[in-house]
Amino acid sequence: MKQPLILEIKGNALDDGPGIRSVVFFKGCPLSCMWCHNPESKRIGAEIGFEAKTCVACDTCMDVCPEGALSRDNPFFIDRSLCTLCFKCADACPSGALSRIGTPMRVDEILARVIRDKPFYDTSGGGVTLSGGEPTMFMDFTGELLQRLKANGIHTLIETCGLFDIDRFYEIVYPWLDAIYYDIKLINSDDHARYCGVPNETILSNFKSLYARYQDGGVPIMPRTPLIPGITDTPENIQAIVHFLSTCGVHEARLLPYHPLWQEKNLKIGVALGGHAAEMDQWLDNQVLDRCRTVFATAGISI
Ligand code: SF4
Ligand code: SF4
Repeated sequence: MKQPLILEIKGNALDDGPGIRSVVFFKGCPLSCMWCHNPESKRIGAEIGFEAKTCVACDTCMDVCPEGALSRDNPFFIDRSLCTLCFKCADACPSGALSRIGTPMRVDEILARVIRDKPFYDTSGGGVTLSGGEPTMFMDFTGELLQRLKANGIHTLIETCGLFDIDRFYEIVYPWLDAIYYDIKLINSDDHARYCGVPNETILSNFKSLYARYQDGGVPIMPRTPLIPGITDTPENIQAIVHFLSTCGVHEARLLPYHPLWQEKNLKIGVALGGHAAEMDQWLDNQVLDRCRTVFATAGISI
């Protein structure tokens, strides 16, 4: 069974499904959206992170690094072409400025962690959300984890980008799900490939299949669209998404307003912001949100 690295298990989450939830963030994603709010979840392997604002300049890390990969002359501090990911620097760092990103965890370990909060799930109508990254990259592991959660009476939800083998999903993951949050970002496949790294035909056809099954008494599925300035929030794309969802028979969707906090996370993992940094430095304008809401509402899709 392919074993994922886990980025984080966040407790007391209120924005990732109904009630109070724990969110398990997987590391690794088949998409590479340029605005990704969790850029440290894109790569499947472990990474070393450096947060400049937390560093107290004690230089302990430089003394322990066997590769001489750390230097204040480097704007990212770490020369990742020299780094062998031994994590000696992270272990020695007294401030937490250097950290290991991605920890292997077994199904048992995750279960033991999230089950502690079951009283909160039970009283609030909450449960456990699998997010990422993309949990379906680890279909067998995800299926086993979901099955164990259900066996313990815990509500389950998956947040997905939709790029997966639908037959395996139905066989391994679907039987143990109570709800699905499904991202629909761009309808034009060339734009999807340009901004998310892959075309979107599979994502759209998987959504159609899952929504049809929901209408037939299957697992509820909620489409979500992140509103990214000048990319997904354009009148053309919003209109095209609304048309696609209407064709599927959707009456409810979510809009996820953009925020630029991902940029700081990118720097932490040594990724330059690139040419779009300046135009994507702003929080989403409320007028844009209202315009998008109106297009959905006019088509009879509540937000
Ligand atoms: S992880 Fe190891 S090789 Fe990489 S910078 Fe830290 S100490 Fe050096
Ligand atoms: S050990 Fe940590 S706090 Fe000290 S210089 Fe290195 S990164 Fe900064």
